[in-house]
Amino acid sequence: MTDSPIWHPFTQHGLGEPIPLVVRGEGAALYTADGRRIIDGISSWWVTTHGHRHPRIMAAIAEQTGKLDQIIFAGWTHEPAEALARGLTAIMPRELTRVFYSDSGSTSVEVALKMALGFWANRGAPRHRILVMQHSYHGDTIGTMSVGERGVYNAAYAPLLFDVGTLPFPRAGAEQATLDALEAACREAPAALIVEPLLLGAGGMLIYPAWVLAEMRAICARHGVLFIADEVMTGWGRTGTLLACEQAGVVPDILCLSKGLTGGAIPLAVTMATEAIFEAHFSRDRARMFFHSSSYTANPIACAAANANLAIWRDEPVAARIADLSARQARRLAGLAGRPGVANPRAIGTVTAIDITDPQGGGYLSQLGPRLLRHFRERDLLLRPMGNTVYVMPPYCIDDADLDRIYAAIGEALD
Ligand SMILES: *Cc1c(COP(=O)(O)O)cnc(C)c1O
Repeated sequence: MTDSPIWHPFTQHGLGEPIPLVVRGEGAALYTADGRRIIDGISSWWVTTHGHRHPRIMAAIAEQTGKLDQIIFAGWTHEPAEALARGLTAIMPRELTRVFYSDSGSTSVEVALKMALGFWANRGAPRHRILVMQHSYHGDTIGTMSVGERGVYNAAYAPLLFDVGTLPFPRAGAEQATLDALEAACREAPAALIVEPLLLGAGGMLIYPAWVLAEMRAICARHGVLFIADEVMTGWGRTGTLLACEQAGVVPDILCLSKGLTGGAIPLAVTMATEAIFEAHFSRDRARMFFHSSSYTANPIACAAANANLAIWRDEPVAARIADLSARQARRLAGLAGRPGVANPRAIGTVTAIDITDPQGGGYLSQLGPRLLRHFRERDLLLRPMGNTVYVMPPYCIDDADLDRIYAAIGEALD
């Protein structure tokens, strides 16, 4: 593939690793041009919820292509976007009355941050400071890197990233330190806190308890600090419930959704907001409008795919499927826990993770990472360890045989 002009994301081309050519996907499997069947153990980077090419989503896309492909969304609208906004406000917390469209998780977070700052500016009491949690990930744009963990992956851009207030991750037994830090930071009137509810994905599949999330929300409410939930990865059942926030009985002021919004078929994102956030921008004064758009805002074909996703959630036993997969995942994780080399076995909903003890020390650039990647690729498995952290986050339709092959390969890696 060295003759390809493509520059791949998060790929060091200098290592000369093979880049498989994928020609077809179906359910939990991907098929390569050279005839291999690959098991998708990470839902194609956390997006594919119901499985590849779910017939209903494919049909909705095909049908929409016969009607309308694209239309400017500033001052115009279309039925797929209207239906989706109605559908989302019906199933998401009722306080979230407004739906703003964009096209990726990163942009949904950028929009959330701009909404929070706009809220304060339009009330004539500008606030700019954002609070974040250690080890967070919210995207790869300059703004979202600013609110995410700093490290080797953004060191080159560090001088451009804006300053934030960072709360320590609520490690088991040290949760109160996080809450105390939040309480102290809130006294300095920040604009907002942004968190990944219950599960920090790219930070290493780190899990914290629902009561901490509930407490953080309560502290923000007490101080009038806006609470932004980035459910780009945790949304759509990943942690066992439609939203991770549900498990803490928490309703955010602003909610970011993307990845599973279209079942993982096509890019789309929404930022949902309370009426108060919308109200702060509502005026006869054009200077107070929300100054954000991207060319493909609410693309009709993407909205049609998302409407099909909502129909699948409505008509198919998705919750039961998630509960079943969560139990099947937990059983297999239990089989790994306690084996030599396994540290911090953990699970939430459909996601499991372990750390493999690395004599040279862990971290994103752990030498174990590339070796593990090769190990799994040789076994026709799409797994993408983060440093020495191996996690399994499959589409909800994966069967026992495929799940067994994934865990057998993790077992062999430990040997
Ligand atoms: C993936 C992710 C993002 C960024 O989404 P993109 O669609 O890749 O821009 C933001 N937040 C969280 C929690 C994510 O997991």
